[in-house]
Amino acid sequence: MARPPAKNTPPAASAASPAAARARKRPAAAPSAVEPPAKRGTTAIDQRIYKAVLDAVMSQRLPPGTRLGEAEFCELFQVSRTTVRKALQRLSHDHIIDLRPNRGAVVASPTTEEAHEIFVARRAIERETVPLMVRNANPKSIHRLRQAIEIEHQALHEGDRPNFIRLGGEFHILLAELAGNRVLLRFLTELVSRCSLIIALYEMPGSPLCEDDEHQRIVSLIEAGHTDAAVALMERHLLEIEARLRLGAPVGKINLAEVLAIN
Ligand SMILES: [Zn+2]
Ligand SMILES: [Zn+2]
Repeated sequence: MARPPAKNTPPAASAASPAAARARKRPAAAPSAVEPPAKRGTTAIDQRIYKAVLDAVMSQRLPPGTRLGEAEFCELFQVSRTTVRKALQRLSHDHIIDLRPNRGAVVASPTTEEAHEIFVARRAIERETVPLMVRNANPKSIHRLRQAIEIEHQALHEGDRPNFIRLGGEFHILLAELAGNRVLLRFLTELVSRCSLIIALYEMPGSPLCEDDEHQRIVSLIEAGHTDAAVALMERHLLEIEARLRLGAPVGKINLAEVLAIN
């Protein structure tokens, strides 16, 4: 997977940067890999809180470990504690924040070990989806994968890092979907969502490698029916993503209102 240019990776708490301003203005995006569709019983306002926090975390404006005070949310969004708690419960369910009995809500900060376990599980699943995909491949499914890569490539050139990470994950989910095993697809969807969050939180800045795109090469190997080579490249691709993580970065002081683009 190629990476967006470093200059477009906003450092934490740079809410005033052009990228952050763009992220704030952008209307609700297509369904995200880390953002499940609204569940029954959720109201527009707790959905808004959910999305504001998710966006801020994915664009590195809310670093891992940041405390999210319930009272502050009530004030910022002018809502009751019940509504805030509902949004926080959902964020916690999706592993975006941790709810701790005595500390309240904090942005998830997966440990090196947890991140590693998630990546190991993901590699195990994708080792199975790739051969299934080779077996099921047809011109139409190959075309769909290439279309997904094209959209991802556009996001890379736009320097839209959160969107690029999301689309990168969606390529893998599409591949599992086309592979045709719904159980593997369900597991992978959760794992990709958790990986995307870890990547958003901890990926080291780096230069883009857009003309050496691994997704492109994986699809070519699948199309050519080279199962073993496709599986090996997928495995290397996932190991490289994991190797680019720098877990355990320190947290500075955060202004919630600024970060959540309220006011
Ligand atoms: Zn990938
Ligand atoms: Zn390019």
